[in-house]
Amino acid sequence: MSNEELLAKIGQSTEETEFYTPMPNGYRPGHHKYVIVVGTVMSGLGKGIFSSSLAKLCQDKGLRVAPIKMEGYYNIDSGTLNPYRHGEVFVLDDGMETDMDLGTYERLLDQDLSAANFTTNGQIFREVLRKEREGEYLGRDVQTIPHVTGEIKLRLRELAAKSKADVVFVEVGGTVGDLENSNYLEACRQLAYEEGEGSVIFVALTYVLEPGALGEQKSKAAQLGIKRLMEVGIMPHIIACRASNPIKEKVREKISMYTNVPMKRVFSMHDVSSIYMIPEAMREAGIDREVLTMLDLHDRVNQKIEDVNLKKWRWFTDHIGRSKKQVTLAVTGKYTALRDAYASIIKAGEHCGAHLGVDVQFKWMDTTDINAENVARELAGCQGIIVPGGFGVRGTEGKIDCIRYARENHVPYLGLCLGFQMAVIEYARNVCGIPDANSTEFDKKCKNCVIEILEEQKKIEGLGGNMRLGGKEVDIKPGTLAARLYDNARRIRLRFRHRYEVDPRFIPTLEQHGLIFSGKHPTQPIMQVLELPQDVHPFFLGTQAHPELTSRPLRPSPFFMGLISAAMEHVKGEHAKGIKRQPQTV
Ligand code: GLN
Repeated sequence: MSNEELLAKIGQSTEETEFYTPMPNGYRPGHHKYVIVVGTVMSGLGKGIFSSSLAKLCQDKGLRVAPIKMEGYYNIDSGTLNPYRHGEVFVLDDGMETDMDLGTYERLLDQDLSAANFTTNGQIFREVLRKEREGEYLGRDVQTIPHVTGEIKLRLRELAAKSKADVVFVEVGGTVGDLENSNYLEACRQLAYEEGEGSVIFVALTYVLEPGALGEQKSKAAQLGIKRLMEVGIMPHIIACRASNPIKEKVREKISMYTNVPMKRVFSMHDVSSIYMIPEAMREAGIDREVLTMLDLHDRVNQKIEDVNLKKWRWFTDHIGRSKKQVTLAVTGKYTALRDAYASIIKAGEHCGAHLGVDVQFKWMDTTDINAENVARELAGCQGIIVPGGFGVRGTEGKIDCIRYARENHVPYLGLCLGFQMAVIEYARNVCGIPDANSTEFDKKCKNCVIEILEEQKKIEGLGGNMRLGGKEVDIKPGTLAARLYDNARRIRLRFRHRYEVDPRFIPTLEQHGLIFSGKHPTQPIMQVLELPQDVHPFFLGTQAHPELTSRPLRPSPFFMGLISAAMEHVKGEHAKGIKRQPQTV
């Protein structure tokens, strides 16, 4: 049976065939190729970084790429996950709440992704059960193979068809050997068989230990991890070895020898100063060319496009971390113990740093113990303050003290989502003379809740899926700081994840006292950007959105650019220039 015949046959689900693999409309067998990235030894090694870097190299050559992350957990999305355990929740433009790896893909590929680029076991099983209830399995007993694996393959092929991808990059969550990811591995093995030779390649990301007591690199754990992959019928084509230091030639040889993967495809993915250096390191090692050869893609490559893209990217990487100038931004956040919870903020700082020629440092602050007495001391040495997104009452009073300090002392301020709401509360309390102003999120009985639950969300109960999520249009008021930052654009698109908003009843009072709402929903009274006039404060801006999520290496977030430029002025002591008046403070 030829591969075409096989693919036609497995599209059916009858008594005559053991296969169950529905084919989506528009699927072009043989056209779509797959790179499947799996982890061995341990998780958290940077499968997403490897996968997105390789995808970027292919994209730079003019190929259409589509990444997908497949999570082993049974949650439908990442919305209810604790950032302490999983890192930040990354929201996509269509409102899907995903793992932070999707942020890495969006940043490296400069591409907006959607729910099609993210799946969980929860989603897969929900769909299998829906089909069972609706009789789609034609009376057969529903099994892991072929139905669950069939559903997984369908997701991959749907993405390929929808995105018209030359190459789909599949990142399998967790580590080979995890029970919860085994269906994904089996589905990928089947996919490789069905699509035929030269269509699917497997990359094993592994870890080479270097115990301090021994002072040498040991490859045994890596070898055993890859053996585990072979046990489920998958032979890797590329091995990427994570390690602190470059992998020694001898160690690479050993791994190559024990895994049947030629030396030229055993790649040392040691620690580098920035993840943005990895694509170039892979290119230098020739991994991209190996992929093109194995997937027979050389004919689809456009050299001219690659030259232009490489030049742009090199400009960016040449400017990362090269500056002697430095600014320090205070970030107040509950999850200060875990940097992953604020990954996108760190990245946005890195992007702007390259464009502005400055090294952006962060000072992480837990605001639980901050008060009016110690706030100046705690913020000393910081040229800018960010109050990031967050939930719950803990530390909110300390945040308000930080915002007041920033406002009164002309320290550049950027409020992100919760930081926007806290800025409204601070202004209402200390400028508008409403001392009990608060948010219903923190004080249900408060009489002056300037931050209220959204009208449209009030009826929805429960924790999952009741937020205002995803990309939304924002109308920008001409002549404002926000307009200047966005080159006088009248309408922009920002990404949201919130439940509460400014209560419209208080807008006139806030505006009369000098607060400017420079970004609003086009039709509803939802306030999305606030600022202080430029003759009152050099940079005081808050947004109900999460601009950190849409900052990209070559298109950094204008709000962060504004904050960091203002922080650089603050270093030079020029921040008070042009300040003529103070808002009247009660
Ligand atoms: N807790 C606030 C809300 O739900 C802010 C959310 C956030 O910062 N992402 O509106």
